[in-house]
Amino acid sequence: MSERSGVPGEGLVKGLAVTLKTMTKRSTTQQYPDVAPELPPRSRGVIALLAENCTVCMLCARECPDWCIYIDSHKEEVAVPGAARPRQRNVLDKFDIDFSLCMYCGICVEVCPFDALYWSPEFEYAEYDIKDLLHDKDHLGEWMATVPPPPAHDPHGDPSKEETTAARKAAAPAARPTPAGPATRVRPEPGAEQGGSPS
Ligand code: SF4
Ligand code: SF4
Repeated sequence: MSERSGVPGEGLVKGLAVTLKTMTKRSTTQQYPDVAPELPPRSRGVIALLAENCTVCMLCARECPDWCIYIDSHKEEVAVPGAARPRQRNVLDKFDIDFSLCMYCGICVEVCPFDALYWSPEFEYAEYDIKDLLHDKDHLGEWMATVPPPPAHDPHGDPSKEETTAARKAAAPAARPTPAGPATRVRPEPGAEQGGSPS
């Protein structure tokens, strides 16, 4: 018999002690799907599209490591009153994300300069057919209803860039440019010494 065997039944007693100890603790099992899980605010469930903000700059599609964003658009002329020529703007025709390829890295959301992409914590969009994981513009737009509001600013955190800029401008009103633009420089008379006092 080895030294580790000890008193007969010792292991059983230890096991029962662990069982009794665990029985008195509160269970942490989440009863999904009967009870919806409480997800952290920054959960990456699905990507939502705010199509009105999209300027078709293509940055998200170019930066996506999986190349699973497909965008198509056409140009439209917009008449501007008073302008010599009409302006052109991009009109979004197609914006698809293939969630069967997406690796939820979040790069597209980060790089979008116009706040057109958002994370939604919604994750219940499994499909029987993998082809149905291609979400089109309308489907991505529907996810916007599930995007949580942005969290409140941390009172102990750094002020936002906008607040810092506004405070700096308010503190130095003299440095603001006048509506007429920067102060005009007077051209010195020919022969006059630059920087000298008037005689
Ligand atoms: S989360 Fe990443 S992989 Fe998914 S669409 Fe965005 S950039 Fe592509
Ligand atoms: S980066 Fe933003 S604005 Fe540019 S195409 Fe993508 S979603 Fe649209």
